Amino acid sequence: MSQRNPILRRCVACKKVLDRKCLLKVTRDFQNGVLISCGMGRSAYLCPTESCFEEALKRKRLQKALRCDIHSSVFNMLQKQLNTCNDSDTEA
Ligand SMILES: [Zn+2]
Repeated sequence: MSQRNPILRRCVACKKVLDRKCLLKVTRDFQNGVLISCGMGRSAYLCPTESCFEEALKRKRLQKALRCDIHSSVFNMLQKQLNTCNDSDTEA
């Protein structure tokens, strides 16, 4: 029995609480601005799904969560990382 408790975080779009490892992390780094999966500072989490991405984009969820403006390049990078952690490949 070596099951560790997952660290749970809430998606800013759908509000579901999921294992942090399954979410994309967007951090407002105090030095480098908004970063994905790295940096130190206020963070927001997003499911790596198209629907949550679009919701976050349309409703400015990440901007509100991080209390700052987010450059479109950050969204471009996020979009490339959608579904990357979906390793259960049996579902069609
Ligand atoms: Zn979500």
